[in-house]
Amino acid sequence: MNRVYNFSAGPSMLPMPVLEKAASELVCYGNSGMSVMEMSHRSPDYEAIIKKAEADLRKIMNIPDNYKVLFLQGGASTQFSSVALNLINRAPSKKGLYAVSGQFSGKAYKEAVKMGINAKCIATTKDDNFDHVPTITRDMVDQDASYLHICFNNTIYGTKYGYIPDCGDVPLVADMSSCIISEPVDVTKFGVIYAGAQKNMAPAGLTLVIVREDLLGLSDESIPTMLDWKTMADNDSMYNTPPCYAIYMAGLVYEWIAQLGGLEVMKEMNVKKAKLLYDYLDSQDYYIAPVKADSRSMMNVTFVTGDADLDKKFASEAAAAGLKNLKGHRSVGGMRASIYNAMPYEGVEALVAFMKKFAQENPKK
Ligand SMILES: *Cc1c(COP(=O)(O)O)cnc(C)c1O
Repeated sequence: MNRVYNFSAGPSMLPMPVLEKAASELVCYGNSGMSVMEMSHRSPDYEAIIKKAEADLRKIMNIPDNYKVLFLQGGASTQFSSVALNLINRAPSKKGLYAVSGQFSGKAYKEAVKMGINAKCIATTKDDNFDHVPTITRDMVDQDASYLHICFNNTIYGTKYGYIPDCGDVPLVADMSSCIISEPVDVTKFGVIYAGAQKNMAPAGLTLVIVREDLLGLSDESIPTMLDWKTMADNDSMYNTPPCYAIYMAGLVYEWIAQLGGLEVMKEMNVKKAKLLYDYLDSQDYYIAPVKADSRSMMNVTFVTGDADLDKKFASEAAAAGLKNLKGHRSVGGMRASIYNAMPYEGVEALVAFMKKFAQENPKK
């Protein structure tokens, strides 16, 4: 069977060269005589794998030495509670700020409230169906707060911050699950960056946390050990068994990006893909792109026909034509094309060609 163009939001496509390399090493890794899946995480072979993955990530993201890189489990959703538990004591106010720009940032906020934390929502675009991200200005960020949490790219709604909010001295915490390593980002502008790996990095099971060192060790003693970033940092992500195979796969992805020329090159490719799709959307009126221009995501592109039955027909006929998983998130409907790093330009070309054909064949009443 031929491979399809998979527009899934996550788990999602992985680069072909990465899958092929993994396949070639699946049964026997190097001279180890075993699969990476079968290795002790404390073995020299595995140690080299995780070290190289971190080094390559540091290189492509230009992560400064005063940031720790953690390879964890539990998904981005576990970080909703970890963020609050690790950071809430940073300032005497013990207040966490949140900007709610979609479902995941809303969940992060609700998780803090649920834990009894003094969480304050300083901005939301809920009343506009999250069709853009909030404008966060310095004066909105209480300077006595422990942190500000944002979701940098909103996977479900297809929006992204086109700017990095100026928080003054308050650490900015960003959920970058669906935009991590899609383009260069100035890590020094953030206190913490975290991401579930299954969108743009690796198979599911791995969560990446990049945290500035001065933000470690601030939690209450009672913090669950597994949620304590300091424990994980002190043990090089090996306090317990890490998600070994997913880290190996992430390492292959980082290596692939480095070989292509790094995140500048990645960005160029991603801009080109997104432009092709948005330019088409802007050139016609059969499909509607609900996201405001200044908030458009380069990774998740949402559109609707305006007719729920047509949307359904679109997704199923596209799937039959080898363009899979274009149905929007179950909570918002419509269509969503996730065009992460691994989606080739040809995949977006095929999508646009299909969209044109579908519009012709299915005139609106
Ligand atoms: C998918 C996603 C999550 C949830 O990730 P899990 O790893 O499934 O917990 C959180 N935030 C964003 C932005 C996402 O895209």
